[in-house]
Amino acid sequence: MNGNFQSPSSKAEAQASPEAVFARLQRGFASGRTRPLQWRAEKLRRLEERLRAREAELHAALAEDLAKPEFESFLSEFAILCEELRDARRELPSWMAARRVATPLKLWPARCEWTYEPKGAVCIIGPWNYPIQLALAPLIAAIAAGNTACVKMSEFAPASARFVRSLVEEVFAADEVVVVEGDGPWTSRLLDRPWAHVFFTGSTAVGRIVAQVCARHLTPTTLELGGKSPCIVDATADLEVSARRAVWGRFFNAGQTCVAPDYVAVHESVADEFTRRMQEEIRSRGDDPANSARLIHHRHGERLQSLLQSLSPGAEVLTGGGPYSASEPRRWQPTLVRWPRAALKPSESHPLLRDEIFGPIFPILTWSTREELRAILDLNPDPLACYVFSRDREFVRWLREGAPGVGGQETLSFGFGGGVLNDVMAQFGSPELPFGGRGASGMGDYHGEFGFMEFSQRRTWVERRTWGDIALRYPPYGEAWKRWKAWLS
Ligand code: NAD
Repeated sequence: MNGNFQSPSSKAEAQASPEAVFARLQRGFASGRTRPLQWRAEKLRRLEERLRAREAELHAALAEDLAKPEFESFLSEFAILCEELRDARRELPSWMAARRVATPLKLWPARCEWTYEPKGAVCIIGPWNYPIQLALAPLIAAIAAGNTACVKMSEFAPASARFVRSLVEEVFAADEVVVVEGDGPWTSRLLDRPWAHVFFTGSTAVGRIVAQVCARHLTPTTLELGGKSPCIVDATADLEVSARRAVWGRFFNAGQTCVAPDYVAVHESVADEFTRRMQEEIRSRGDDPANSARLIHHRHGERLQSLLQSLSPGAEVLTGGGPYSASEPRRWQPTLVRWPRAALKPSESHPLLRDEIFGPIFPILTWSTREELRAILDLNPDPLACYVFSRDREFVRWLREGAPGVGGQETLSFGFGGGVLNDVMAQFGSPELPFGGRGASGMGDYHGEFGFMEFSQRRTWVERRTWGDIALRYPPYGEAWKRWKAWLS
C-alpha cells in the first residue's frame, strides 16, 4: 500500500490551520502588492524559469506517484504549463487593459469603461491524476489576475505535492501563495471561509459538496468535474487512424484522464473492423508495463476488477482484463470490452456504462440508427467531451449543432463541454480555447485568457462630468420629458 495514502490528515495537522492560511492570504491581498502588472509579470516569469530549471524533478515526482512515462508527463503536465505561462506573460498587458465602450446619449457627457479586477484570496483544489498541471495551471490564471492563492494538493499524489510546494516557495512569499495538503474533512474546513473564488477540479460527487459549502459564503465557484465522454465512430470514419487515436486517448495515464474517451459508440457496419484495429493497436504497444502509467491505488484496481466481474450477459472481454501480473496490481493491461446491443436499455445499464470508468477499460457499444445512437448518448448527458470520427459533414452537424438529420430525422439535443472531430483530447491543447464542462461535468472554464477572466471580477466604471446637468431628470417631472422620449428609449 502506498504509505502516504494512510496519513493525509496527519500531514494536514502539521501545517497551518485553514483559518490561519486564509487570514494570511487575505492580509497578503490587502497589502495591494499583487495588483500591479509588474508584480504579476515578474512572478510568472520566475515561475516559468524555476519550472524549466526543475523539469527533471517534475518527471521524478510524477513517476513516483503514478509511474507516468516521461513522455506523458512532459506532454500533459510540463509542456502545458510552459505554454500557459508563456501565453499569460505575453498577453497580460492586453488582458489587464481597460475596455472603453461607447456612451449612450442618455449618459452624456461621460466616459464608460470596464476593467478586470483581482478578486482577492482564492482557493484552488486539485485532483491526483495530473496533479502538477491541474494545480499550477489554475494558479497561473489566479496570479495573472492579481490574486493571492491557496493551492490544496491531492493527498494521493504526495511527491507531486512536495514538488509543487517547494517550487511555489521559491517564487512566492508566504502571504502570496500557500500550498497545503489535506483530506476531505480538512478541505471542507478550508473551504468554509469567505474565499473570493474557489476553483475545484475533481469528481462530480465531491464537486456537489464543494458547491454546497461555497454557497454558505456565496463564493463564486469554478467546477472542473468528471466526464463520461463518448467516442462516436460512424461508417465513413478512417478506421485505422480513428482506432489508433481512440486507443491512445483511452489508455493515456492508464485511463485516469478526465477528458479521455470513456466508451466507444461505433456504427454496426464497421464495428468488427474497428474493434480488430483497436486490438491490433493494443498489441502493437507491446507488453512492457512501463509504457503505461500506474493506477493511483490498488483499491482503484479492485473497483475496476469488480466492474469486469459483473458484466451484463453477452458482454465480452476482448483484450486485457486485469493487471499484468499479480505482484503489481496497479499496473493494468489495456482492456477492451464488447457490449451486446440487447443489453443497452437504460433501465439495465451497467455501472461500466453509467459511471465514469477512470481506468484502462474501454467498452465498445454499437448502433445502427441515429435513434440507437441517441439512446446511447442519453445514458450520460452533459459529458466533459465528445469525440466524433467521421467524414460525413451532415452527421457531424447533427451531433454538434443539433441540425435536423437528412430525410427529416429528428434533431439531437446533446450538450458537452468541448468536442473534437477525428481525434481525442485535442481540445485541451491550446491556451486560446476555453476548457470546461456543463451540468454534471462542471461549470466555468479556464486556460489562457479564459482563466484570467474566471479569476477576475469585471468591474464597470462610468465617469460623468458635472457640466451639462439636465434638469429634466429631477422631480417634479412635469411633461417636458415626453418630448425627449425618442432620444431616451
Ligand atoms: P476527488 O473529487 O476525489 O478529489 C479532488 C480533490 O477534492 C482532492 O484534492 C481531494 O482531497 C478533495 N476532496 C475530497 N473530498 C472532499 C470534500 N468532502 N470536500 C472538499 N474537498 C474534498 O477527485 P480525484 O479522485 O482526485 O480525481 C478524479 C476525478 O477528477 C475524476 O472524476 C476526474 O474526471 C476529475 N477530473 C476532472 C478534471 C477536469 O478538468 N474537468 C481534471 C482532472 C480530473
